[in-house]
Amino acid sequence: MNFMKYILNPYYLLRNDVKRAAICSQDVNHSPAIDVSENWLSFIHPIYAMLLSFFSLPIELSVASENIAVFFDFTKEYTDQLIQNFIENSEPFHTHYKNFDNDFPKNIIVRADIIHEQTIVYHPKDFVYTDIDLHSRRFYKAPLYVTFMISNKCLTNCIYCYADRYTKCKELDFSRVESIIDDACQSKIVSFNIDGGEFFLYPRWQELLEKLKGCNYLPEIISTKYPMDIDMIKDFSKFGINLQVSFDSVAQDTLDNMVGRINNYSARMQAALKNIDQVMSFQVATILTKYNGSIQEMEKMYTFLSTLHNVRRWEVRVGFKSLYSKKKFEDIQISRSSIEEIQHWIKDKQSSSKFEILWSPGKEVSFFKAKHGSADFVGSLCSANSLHMFILPDGKVTICEQLYWNKNFLIGDLAKMSISEVWNSPRALYLAHRQQNDYSSDSYCHKCKIFDTCKANLNDCFPNIMKVYGKEHWDYPDPRCDKAPRNISDKIYV
Ligand code: SF4
Ligand code: SF4
Repeated sequence: MNFMKYILNPYYLLRNDVKRAAICSQDVNHSPAIDVSENWLSFIHPIYAMLLSFFSLPIELSVASENIAVFFDFTKEYTDQLIQNFIENSEPFHTHYKNFDNDFPKNIIVRADIIHEQTIVYHPKDFVYTDIDLHSRRFYKAPLYVTFMISNKCLTNCIYCYADRYTKCKELDFSRVESIIDDACQSKIVSFNIDGGEFFLYPRWQELLEKLKGCNYLPEIISTKYPMDIDMIKDFSKFGINLQVSFDSVAQDTLDNMVGRINNYSARMQAALKNIDQVMSFQVATILTKYNGSIQEMEKMYTFLSTLHNVRRWEVRVGFKSLYSKKKFEDIQISRSSIEEIQHWIKDKQSSSKFEILWSPGKEVSFFKAKHGSADFVGSLCSANSLHMFILPDGKVTICEQLYWNKNFLIGDLAKMSISEVWNSPRALYLAHRQQNDYSSDSYCHKCKIFDTCKANLNDCFPNIMKVYGKEHWDYPDPRCDKAPRNISDKIYV
């Protein structure tokens, strides 16, 4: 007899989503004790969620099997066979049940003695539904991820800035922020990310991190351009969050052109980097424009970073067009020839550098290529308004982090609504289920024969559509579609 107890792997969250159950991996700041399928998300028939609920507390296999057999009125033999697939499965697997396809990640039910995380108790009756939908992408009840922009204030005034820093807004009271985090937790939202503005200008950043920690939502990374002092660095390091420091040049005159005239900014940032280096490991990010896009600038940055001991990674990216920058992209972009030179230089340095150097040479976008609608668009599937919502500092909610207060995409207001109310607001549902007649007659989508299959994927990138065709044409086809207009006036990437 096997008296060992087994449990549903707490790395996976089961979420009741009105017409299906979702099984998704959780955001964790530590490596799980066993091999898991990271970034997992699949919709499963509720019968499986009911079955897995029997393992939400440690239980012997024979007892679980008896309970499941009684609950579903299955034979014991059939139940034993059924649950066997889920026990310490070393690979993801697939089932077909009543015409529905179901996918499951690795190691769903595991030995209870190796699990130390807190577990969630599920009840089979929580997953009883009448209608089943395993096909649509958009979550019914609430998003899976949220991002909160704490403020749109910065110390710097970067020429390539991707954020809308010009809209004036009254930031949410901290008590309201806390209740939104509680709401996210109750809604089984998997991650609550933090975006800026400058994180360290948020006066209650430590309390915010404490609150997030209490709900298991500590962000994976915080980015900053702030010249942090040693006390601030020590306070931050206690949370064990990765820190990314923006560092665009060591030369004050280059920085004057790139991030605005800030007294002694170069020296203050170098001092801050040296202080951080004494306390914790961190990563550095550089955006290339015509001002810092040269070998001399790269050499100077590399020489300085090489004097430090705790730089884990240096990420160098070519700047792309912003919807909000006051400068024309053409006036600040780095040239193609400089990108090629820097690419060679980076390849050379990568082999000898003591820290990792990552290189993103501007995206090569496959415009006008997709023949069969948005499922064919190159790139990862968009999460806006299907899995993710973006909370602005005043509580207004938009569907993507690059859309800010553009009223076409504002779906609600968390200053007075709950997350679920915003997610199911008329505007959110309208954007998710727009009819062909809602598209302007000069958009090809208005007459496209594959409209329904294309739009079911919710894979249009609205910021890119607006960067290419202008804000007023946000309902034009995504430029990756082969039916999108070719009269592009502006370039997005170098
Ligand atoms: S024209 Fe519009 S609806 Fe048709 S495939 Fe392109 S993006 Fe999709
Ligand atoms: S709309 Fe575009 S930028 Fe926004 S999440 Fe989707 S793909 Fe990303």
